[in-house]
Amino acid sequence: MISLESEENMDGQFLPRVKLTQSSIIDVDDGVKTNKSISETVECTREIFKTHKTLPLSFRKEQLKGLLDFFEKEEKSICEALYADLKKSHEEALIAEISLVKKEIRNHLNNLDDWIKPEKVKKSIANFFDDLLITSDPYGVVLVIGAWNYPVFVLFMPVVGAIAGGNCVVIKPSEVAEATSSVISRLLPKYIDNDCYPVITGGPKETTELLQNRFDYIFYTGSSQVGKIIYEAASKYLTPVTLELGGKSPVYVDKTANLKLTAKRILWGKGQNGGQVCIAPDYVLCTPEVQAKLLGFMEDAIKEFYNGSVKTSKDFGRIINQRHFDRLLKLLKNQNIAIGGHTDAAERFISPTILIDVRPKDPIMQEEIFGPLLPIINVRNAQEAIEFINAREKPLALYLFTNDGNVKKDFMEKTSSGGMVINDTIMHIVADGLPFGGVGNSGIGAYKGKYTFDTFVHKKSVLSKSFNPLQEKIESVKYPPMTPASAKFIVNVAKSNIVISTRYLTHALMFALGVAVTVSSYYINKKLNEK
Ligand code: NAD
Repeated sequence: MISLESEENMDGQFLPRVKLTQSSIIDVDDGVKTNKSISETVECTREIFKTHKTLPLSFRKEQLKGLLDFFEKEEKSICEALYADLKKSHEEALIAEISLVKKEIRNHLNNLDDWIKPEKVKKSIANFFDDLLITSDPYGVVLVIGAWNYPVFVLFMPVVGAIAGGNCVVIKPSEVAEATSSVISRLLPKYIDNDCYPVITGGPKETTELLQNRFDYIFYTGSSQVGKIIYEAASKYLTPVTLELGGKSPVYVDKTANLKLTAKRILWGKGQNGGQVCIAPDYVLCTPEVQAKLLGFMEDAIKEFYNGSVKTSKDFGRIINQRHFDRLLKLLKNQNIAIGGHTDAAERFISPTILIDVRPKDPIMQEEIFGPLLPIINVRNAQEAIEFINAREKPLALYLFTNDGNVKKDFMEKTSSGGMVINDTIMHIVADGLPFGGVGNSGIGAYKGKYTFDTFVHKKSVLSKSFNPLQEKIESVKYPPMTPASAKFIVNVAKSNIVISTRYLTHALMFALGVAVTVSSYYINKKLNEK
């Protein structure tokens, strides 16, 4: 049931408020989740969007501040949930999840006034009299689906932009990170408007039900396989999508690199979240000579990072569930382990494990590893590494370790990946100003900072004309009947590249006025002298 009331917003306007008579948090555990409830929730969210409740800047900011409050006041519960799901340490939860989302919220709060302003466009002579603008319109009802590996970061980073864009947002956390999903659905409604931003929990069945509804934008983070299902469902209503997917992110190391630092930086990237990172280095390409030196430094790095005992270190996570643990053990079968290979099924623990003599046809090279296993494959040179990478799906990230300028140039020009890092791993995801996203099999679209806001708004072109009689006179050449002369005039105006900038208009007018005054005083003086 939906009922309408009205409420005053921060701008003093009275807005209709759609009230849900049942909670729009659909929780599988509560046993209240039915197909009808999901559809009804989406329908209610659409009704609310139609009331323009989410449009005022003040409302958007108020909700973003509410979201900030959620992360500040519920930090403890969120960190405990992340520990329960992934054994993520408090420090890692703060650094890699909560603080990044808080930063994104603050960035949107600080810049939203500017970002939502209609953008003025440079005009050509054909639009001399017109106003040309680009406005940033909310899409409407947006669906954000998150993945389990960074269950806070990947869910809320897009939600921030979607709220800032003035949309209603249906929020779907990953059921695999069960504790985090439960904290979000239980506590988030205390901080942001639950009618505009409902949380729906559940797994593939619930997501499938959700996708049967019409959305105006879908933002999905997860595997490429499910990404295809989402894309197909979106096509029914031609719904635009962002797909943040995964894949195998390669590393190439050449002999000019500082191999000690290279080993540290690769293993630091691989060690985050127990290797369950979408941009974790997936495999290493290098010559046998580089490999021999790298292995020694890798062994040292692991000892140094985890104080000689990975298992007891609080800085190394666990595999999310039994299914993924078994999958990783299967990938280890028949492999030559150079470093690590220690496992404990009871804890779902796998130590950082380096594999050598790996063949391109091995199962471990057929899928994204998403765990702490790192195969090394030998190539003869950079050219062969580029060919190896280009023979496979386009990766989400590509890592290159070299001091050779030509090799850097070659990789930048001759490979295609969502992002690229030279002489480090993972760091591009936190670099301000760089959009984050994939290409081809690793995704569609990119976000972060202003790119997140832009993802969730439609850039509408607006041309505004007046009824000015002079303009009408000049532009009346467009009306039929056409003559060769009018057609020629239109063609000439259309092909003109002259751009009219209003930037110096005042200066030009003042200059023209100055010239006019000088010329007229000259003639007046002349006339007076003649008399
Ligand atoms: P997951 O199992 O949590 O699934 C993601 C979402 O898809 C969940 O909300 C789930 O309910 C839904 N889902 C799962 N199966 C479905 C189905 N058959 N139909 C409809 N919905 C379904 O996460 P995952 O897919 O295991 O996540 C890991 C993958 O995500 C990796 O490939 C990783 O690289 C990728 N990832 C990418 C990014 C990125 O930013 N590009 C970030 C994190 C993870």
